[in-house]
Amino acid sequence: MDQVFAPWRIEWVEREDETADDDCVFCAFRDDDADREHRVVARGDRAFVLLNNYPYNPGHVMVIPHDHTGEYRALDDETLLEHAQLKQRAFAALESALSPDAFNAGLNLGGSAAGGSIDDHLHTHVVPRWDGDTNFMPVVSDTKVIVEAVEDTYDRLHEAFAEQEGTSVPGADRAVRVEAPPKGL
Ligand SMILES: [Zn+2]
Repeated sequence: MDQVFAPWRIEWVEREDETADDDCVFCAFRDDDADREHRVVARGDRAFVLLNNYPYNPGHVMVIPHDHTGEYRALDDETLLEHAQLKQRAFAALESALSPDAFNAGLNLGGSAAGGSIDDHLHTHVVPRWDGDTNFMPVVSDTKVIVEAVEDTYDRLHEAFAEQEGTSVPGADRAVRVEAPPKGL
């Protein structure tokens, strides 16, 4: 499993270097508008949705509050609400883009014991699941194939978010902009 995931770790480190300082990568993606390059697929005022670079399954996304904190209890009411609403939109987008049978969703809080790799900027993982899936990564061990798969998933998810009510697309290579609470998902 480590051999399969190693190329992704390397790419992740290179991406971090591109931010030119030792800032948090989630804060860097929050503040930059190269959304397609970073695989930021949707944005609200207080949170955004990022496709995982080394997915557990196709469509594995993270819903990330803008606040740089690892402490869930530090989030204010507006952020909690928007973070939750963005999760609702993510479930809907994944369902229409990829037709999963189920989801896992959750937070890793409190450092390495929880299994997270970035523990000072909290993020909720949303992982689509299919009946009988174990993990597609061992099957697809070719990095180029995985990159293409993630890019294809990005396009599909982007389209699914853009089709939701209360969203708009501000420009080429930009994330779908979420302008209103979710309705009729
Ligand atoms: Zn951060």
